[in-house]
Amino acid sequence: DPVWRASGTVDHGTVELLVERAREASYVDDHAAFVDTLIGALDRCDDPVDRGSLLLALAVTRQGLLDPSIAAHDCDRALDALRDSDRPGQAAFAAACTAVMRHRAGDTDGAIDVAVEALVLRAAAPDDHDSTRATNALSILFAEFGAFTVAHELSTAALCGRVTESMLDPIAYTASYITVEAAHRGVVLDLDLMRQACALAHRPTASEASRTALGPAMTYELALLGGDVSDLPEPELHVERAAPLAPRFAAWYRLVLASREQDEGRHDEALVHLDHALPPLVAAHDHLRAERALAIRRDCRGATGDLVGALDDSIELSYHLQRIHVTHVEGLAAQVAQRADLELARIDLHEKADVLADAVATDALTGVRSRRWLELMLADISRGEGSATVVMLDLDHFKEINDRYGHILGDEVLRRVGRIMKEASPGDDTIARYGGEEFVAVLPGASRAAAESFAGRVRQSLRDENWDELADGLDVRISAGLATGRLPAIRAVMAAADRALFEAKRRGRDRVVAA
Ligand code: GH3
Ligand code: MG
Ligand code: MG
Repeated sequence: DPVWRASGTVDHGTVELLVERAREASYVDDHAAFVDTLIGALDRCDDPVDRGSLLLALAVTRQGLLDPSIAAHDCDRALDALRDSDRPGQAAFAAACTAVMRHRAGDTDGAIDVAVEALVLRAAAPDDHDSTRATNALSILFAEFGAFTVAHELSTAALCGRVTESMLDPIAYTASYITVEAAHRGVVLDLDLMRQACALAHRPTASEASRTALGPAMTYELALLGGDVSDLPEPELHVERAAPLAPRFAAWYRLVLASREQDEGRHDEALVHLDHALPPLVAAHDHLRAERALAIRRDCRGATGDLVGALDDSIELSYHLQRIHVTHVEGLAAQVAQRADLELARIDLHEKADVLADAVATDALTGVRSRRWLELMLADISRGEGSATVVMLDLDHFKEINDRYGHILGDEVLRRVGRIMKEASPGDDTIARYGGEEFVAVLPGASRAAAESFAGRVRQSLRDENWDELADGLDVRISAGLATGRLPAIRAVMAAADRALFEAKRRGRDRVVAA
């Protein structure tokens, strides 16, 4: 009972609950009431990620609609809400669902585009429930493309992924669906996976729809494919009891029964099952099974002398077959995967380029900005307006420090000086190593007083630093020259600061001189 109707807002826990329920509702025939509940919840929910989850739940619930573009639209909106959220797995799930719905709505190009996005998002997602859900949805997509090799790989991964109890039903359903349809098309036959899925569908904690319709249908199909069903419950189904619960599963079961009746020459009995099975399969956009059902009906009608009916089925079948050309779509799947790989490589390249750019912009020894960065920054500044203050700093008698204590210790001194300057600087990107033991701070818009206080802080920190722990009697001092000027003449400001630094050295070092 929706408590939130009274309280006015929907909290995160309620959203999770509704999402869970949506998965079950998708198995039942009459889910209109639940759709209303979800729409009501959406009206009272502001959090974008929760809204994304609710929209996905809505799409999952409405997936059997006659017009799949409605569910595709829900998925699109969910993807928009989740794309930049902190849940990439959930966003990948949304993208995969969008692809499935677009494909069902006949928009194959749009489906491929968003399938690429789903693969990319999933690759970036942590290994959690969300990404398992995304993997499972992707396996459905590839199965519906007819690309069973990829679909099988993905559904196996989903079955071995991180799952919650309530995810097991849909994952088992997908795994067995893919195995069965692939086997019927001679692509792959993984009876172990199928048996594993069967056992899941029959487990005591499975949903009622799973135990009464899905499990028996799967078991029956497994037996038909020649699998060992001795350790599974008898495949017994009460079609009447299961039909309102799970029309898709009941239709599947009818299809299996029809196939058995046909094998045993009872064509009329087979036809009864098929007439029941076909409408729900078509309504659920289950083209693969609808195609199988049509092929069996065509043969049974032919065998009973209904040649006109057999011809009708042939014509309809050719329409369905146009949608699925296994060799063609395997190529399509390879294209999607390849585009996703390229996209991932591009992202990887961007990340590498960022790391590289950072390395080039940073001085390896001291951690302050590099001379190269400084040149780019100066070029940038000289396009601006206003004023800038520049401080040039040079260690005093550094050559003597090197000579007396060695270059390795000299390097450590430079490292510490770099750290001290960064700590004293007013911004993140201010200090650059100009050369050897010379540093420069460029402060756009800063006043002379601010620059003086920066230089003062550096000198104070140098005095406070415990140099003795590096070497007995070590003392590090610095001279600084400071100049302010108007842009764009930043080079002239630099030259003035350099002259002021020279003046500081000339006056005896260990001081700041302003131009
Ligand atoms: P002044 O007070 O006049 O600046 O005297 P100074 O000894 O610091 O003179 P100068 O600036 O000419 O000397 C710079 C010295 O810094 C020379 C060079 O050996 C040393 N140096 C430059 N780069 C490095 C470095 O990366 N590591 C080390 N250990 N020393 C460096
Ligand atoms: Mg020098
Ligand atoms: Mg020096």
